[in-house]
Amino acid sequence: MPELPEVETVVRSLAPRLEGRRIVEVWGSGLPLRLARPVDLRHVSALCLRRRVRAVRRRGKYILLELGQKGDGGGDAGLSVHLGMTGRLRLQPAREQRAPHTHVVWTLDRGDELRFVDPRRFGSVSPADSLAALPELAQLGPDPLSELDERELAARLDGVRAPIKAFLLDQRRVAGLGNIYVCEALHRARIHPSAPASRARGRAAALLAGIRGALESGIANRGTTLRDFVDSNGDAGGNLAALLVYGREDQPCLTCGARIRRRVDAARSTFYCPSCQKR
Ligand SMILES: [Zn+2]
Repeated sequence: MPELPEVETVVRSLAPRLEGRRIVEVWGSGLPLRLARPVDLRHVSALCLRRRVRAVRRRGKYILLELGQKGDGGGDAGLSVHLGMTGRLRLQPAREQRAPHTHVVWTLDRGDELRFVDPRRFGSVSPADSLAALPELAQLGPDPLSELDERELAARLDGVRAPIKAFLLDQRRVAGLGNIYVCEALHRARIHPSAPASRARGRAAALLAGIRGALESGIANRGTTLRDFVDSNGDAGGNLAALLVYGREDQPCLTCGARIRRRVDAARSTFYCPSCQKR
């Protein structure tokens, strides 16, 4: 599932090619996406047609397309796109065949198409007259790269009895992390994944450094591709080889040489080093 670095990679590959382009047509498959909800194509069309893409941004794991043109004032109408498990946003020449499982297509000026492709349909495309008012965005916690500091993280950890791994996966507490980068961050911070979150309070600086280190590695390598992830050009990411623990069960820890362990809780795999990350 794409996490913050993969979404950031899509945004960076998309922004220079999409910003300033005018949308001239919108098409949708009509099939339901996340939570069995079809895309509200009428609202999408009303927002997009004859408008320009003013900016492409990221918030947590959401891709935001801000729409508008000169004279629109300070509004923040736009689209919020979540890639779910297998979603892709591709910018391709209109003459190239559409991939199977294409669910939304925005035809742009000068003959290109922005395409949302999602075989498993856990992704979403939400139109909004005000992006700031979208509930899914309003409830997100701070972005660990730009909105979180050591004091804020310590305050959020205070009194939380849930395991630190569950804390970091909760998008309302910190936005953008998923299973891969949580495992990586906790390893870098030398914190056991099932330690109570409140106990990591005194290690907030190390934890924040671990989170940022793991995310920045992912971004520098243009995302982790386990199976599906590609950027808007269709290129896979190169971060798999840079992962320290995720997917490395029984291999030697790159820090201490002990064998990396895998455990399964809540149907998710957790990878950690039992020697570097003591309980
Ligand atoms: Zn180790």
